[in-house]
Amino acid sequence: MRTPPGALRAYPPLDRLAERFDAAVERIPGARRHTLGRSVEGRAIPACALGPARAPALLLVAGIHGNELLGPTLAVTFAEALADAATAARLYGARLWLVPVANPDGYARTWARDGRGPLAALRTNARGVDLNRNFPIPAGGRRSPWPGAGTNRIGAATYRGPRPLSEPESRALADLADSIRPVAALSLHSFMGTLIPAFSPHRADLRHYRALARAFASAQPRYRYRMLASRFFDGLTGEFEDYLHHALGCFATCVESYPVVESLRRAPPPATVGRRFLPEDPAPWIENDLPGIIAYFEAALHAHRAGIRPRQLDDMCPLPR
Ligand SMILES: [Zn+2]
Repeated sequence: MRTPPGALRAYPPLDRLAERFDAAVERIPGARRHTLGRSVEGRAIPACALGPARAPALLLVAGIHGNELLGPTLAVTFAEALADAATAARLYGARLWLVPVANPDGYARTWARDGRGPLAALRTNARGVDLNRNFPIPAGGRRSPWPGAGTNRIGAATYRGPRPLSEPESRALADLADSIRPVAALSLHSFMGTLIPAFSPHRADLRHYRALARAFASAQPRYRYRMLASRFFDGLTGEFEDYLHHALGCFATCVESYPVVESLRRAPPPATVGRRFLPEDPAPWIENDLPGIIAYFEAALHAHRAGIRPRQLDDMCPLPR
């Protein structure tokens, strides 16, 4: 496990990432470290919270897909940035929750294999479930018809699991979300260079998501991500963002860091999963995306204070709890 990796040498092993997170939390005034639960292989799922307990909650989650090590690194850098009073002041009056690595088994496996192996083996949890297809779908909601939207085929990269919230990692996220009821959330992924909002058939939601995406992109200094969404052609997939939006009334967006063109330019096919999904040097992308995260949350707080709420599909399918 301590063998220095090749393609992923710029990314920390899981224990080092956790140490950096703990050190950052200690430096943030008023922040508290939590453990949300344990993964299938028994690893802790760390989190932290800061800000007044009764304030509107914001949620940042990273690393739900094991092979996407950029998000966790970005989330920990965000925690480090919050130790700075000027950054923290921009989210003043909110309760902010950070979950830097939601799938620690997948992270550890990807790091140990240096990003080599089939995507299905690195992206999923230790039982082969794509955690971002394992959330409940509203009973009246239309499942997305697109490939990649989730499958019942065991061994596939988007295997949705035997039933919604069958996995300890997705359940830990749902439990946290149910108890804090965030008004806005971001889930950090790679790669693509896009912002993908939760699916909603309502025109007003799409308009608000577009405004949030604009806030995110205009704060990015170098490469601005575009929103990717269609209320006609998309559908529900069992993603965390869809659950947050429809079960909890939260504006939730998936951030796909690291643009496709950059990935193809830097790692022409064939490339390992690690090289395809992750930049060799994460630093420029962290610098590019961190201001977007802060701007998104700032804009979402403004919208919440102005009374703007998402439209929810009712009747989330019964939760097996
Ligand atoms: Zn992902």
